[in-house]
Amino acid sequence: MATNGERDPLLGPPGEPNFARDTDLSEHAAKRAVERRAAVIRAVTHGVLTVAFVAALLSMFFLWDKVGRFAGALPKDPEKAAHRLLESAPVIDGHIDLPEFARSVYGNNITAFDLNTPTPGHVDIPRLKKGQVGGFFWSVFVNCPAHAGLDDGPDFLKATWRVRDTLEQIDVAKLLINRYPETFQLATTSDEVKSAIADGKIASLLGVEGAHQLGNSLAVLRQYHELGVRYVTLTHMCNNAFADSGGYLTPIETKWGGLSPLGYKLIEEMNRLGVIVDLSHTSDETARQALKHTKAPVIWSHSSARSVHNVARNVPDDILELVGTTDGKVDGVIMVNFAPQFVADEGKANVQVVADHVDHIANITGKAHVGLGSDYDGIESTPEGLEDVSKYPALVAELYSRGWNRFELAGLTGRNLLRVIAGVERVAANLQAHGVPPALDIYDKRTDLPKYEL
Ligand SMILES: [Zn+2]
Repeated sequence: MATNGERDPLLGPPGEPNFARDTDLSEHAAKRAVERRAAVIRAVTHGVLTVAFVAALLSMFFLWDKVGRFAGALPKDPEKAAHRLLESAPVIDGHIDLPEFARSVYGNNITAFDLNTPTPGHVDIPRLKKGQVGGFFWSVFVNCPAHAGLDDGPDFLKATWRVRDTLEQIDVAKLLINRYPETFQLATTSDEVKSAIADGKIASLLGVEGAHQLGNSLAVLRQYHELGVRYVTLTHMCNNAFADSGGYLTPIETKWGGLSPLGYKLIEEMNRLGVIVDLSHTSDETARQALKHTKAPVIWSHSSARSVHNVARNVPDDILELVGTTDGKVDGVIMVNFAPQFVADEGKANVQVVADHVDHIANITGKAHVGLGSDYDGIESTPEGLEDVSKYPALVAELYSRGWNRFELAGLTGRNLLRVIAGVERVAANLQAHGVPPALDIYDKRTDLPKYEL
């Protein structure tokens, strides 16, 4: 049978023209033509896609700021990045002394100055807005008796005016918060901080800076809590009935070797109430014992790193090692203090040095355990580049240029602190749910109350 097969003898040897071959060849040509057309279409399509891809890349490159915003990425320029970050993660500072400024400069007369206009201090509303501040702890501070020219005696029993003056500090803080309701909003919980920020307000929390302000009494702690106080620093620069202080640039003579027996009870009561244990200003031994005893996370509301600048007021590495979320560690946040005498040798304090403290602490504890506690209005001078509350973006920009990403920076500016506040709230709710009763312990050096065995 004749076939169209090339090897069929009827078609002659290959190469010789015949109909069958010619027919076959024309089919090949048609096929090749189709293939050529397809190749052209492919090439054109590929070209168009390549051009579109390159155009997209170029526009991404030139419009990165705008495109990246949707993806949450930060601009390359550190200053722009800092401002962008702070729009969604504003600063929540652990320690600002505005109430002390009102007391020491204006005798608590809140009509004597206007926070909407420049103040001679580090804080006013225009600068808070420029610095993208979303909240801060208003430190309600009164001096240690000795620093106020008073002597409360070896057992801290002689009456001073510390409790009255603390109430006045709480009062002046609240009067100021209420005087500018379009700017400030009192906050007593982590949720209230978040909702104040969401409303465009500056969340205003209260912190008592030293247990010498408690009048040796756990009842006073409970009443401060009722008034909205959410942290108590265990000491200021003096020892008190509850704990030893770390002194100032150098340590002072200790009285208890850390916490007193009532100091342990104070921590238990703070845990039960939901008042944050603040370890700034304490002696190293006080801090170690408090970390061992607390059931709740802690803060250092305004403390820097001793390894970076060796003064007693800063936190040493072996204590930083105790902070974390792994086994045996305590969750907490060390909020870096800007005070020049704590961060560097004289004349050398600047943004970079403060960033060195942040970096050093983060290297030991992890970035989830560092925050900002400027001490503005409580310090006489300021680092170069961090002159007042308008300058936080400079520090954020410095850390961004050192490789901190937006999540880490958001932790630093406020989220780490919010996590700790929420943790303290959970512990308090848990202790209260388990029926842990209020601590009724009385300072054993007191003789004005009958002894009643607990
Ligand atoms: Zn302080």
